[in-house]
Amino acid sequence: MANLPILLADIRACTQCAAHLPLGPRPVVQLAPQARILIAGQAPGRKVHETGIPFNDASGDRLRAWLGLSREVFYDAKQVAIVPMGFCYPGTGPSGDLPPRPECAAAWRAPLLAHLQQLELTLVIGSYAQAWHLPGYASVTDAVRAWRNTWPHTLALPHPSPRNNLWLKRNPWFEEALLPELRLRVQQVLRQSPSSGS
Ligand code: SF4
Repeated sequence: MANLPILLADIRACTQCAAHLPLGPRPVVQLAPQARILIAGQAPGRKVHETGIPFNDASGDRLRAWLGLSREVFYDAKQVAIVPMGFCYPGTGPSGDLPPRPECAAAWRAPLLAHLQQLELTLVIGSYAQAWHLPGYASVTDAVRAWRNTWPHTLALPHPSPRNNLWLKRNPWFEEALLPELRLRVQQVLRQSPSSGS
C-alpha cells in the first residue's frame, strides 16, 4: 500500500486533468487512517474551491444538520473522511456543476480508500459516488429508498444542495424516518472512535 503522506502529497501536486479545470487544480480531500465515517461525495463547488474546505457551503450546512455534527467534529479528519469522486472543481455547465472528472477516481480513489481501515459508516452522496460504492441502483432515489439494504454500514444520501429541495419535499420519509436513524448511528459510531476521547 502506498505511504499515505506521499500519496497525499502526490494528490496535492496532481495536474492530470488540469486542461479541463476552469479554475485549475486545487484538490480538496480530508482523511486520516483513524476516520470512522467516510463521506463519498461528488466534487467541490466553486465556493469550496475558493476556500479549500470541503462542504464549506450551503450543502455542507445541510449535510451537517442531517448528521447532527458540529463543524468541529465534521472537520476532524480522525473522525470524518471526506473523499469526493473528483477532488477539484470541474466547472459549471448550463444545469449546474459539471460531473467530477473521471480521471480522478481512476487515479486516486482505490489507493486512498485502502488507508481507511477503521470505517464504520460510508455515506454515498450523488450518482457518481453511488456508481462506485453502491452500483446496481437505477437512480439515487432508488438507492436512498433502499437504505435498509446496506444499513448500518453504507447509506446513499441525496445531494444536500438547496437544488434538491423539491426532492426532499417529494420524499418526506427521508427526513421523517431515515434521518433520525442516521443521527443515532453517527453518534454511535463516533462514540466508538478513539479520537472522541471516550
Ligand atoms: S481532479 Fe483529480 S485528477 Fe484532476 S487534477 Fe484534480 S486531483 Fe488531479
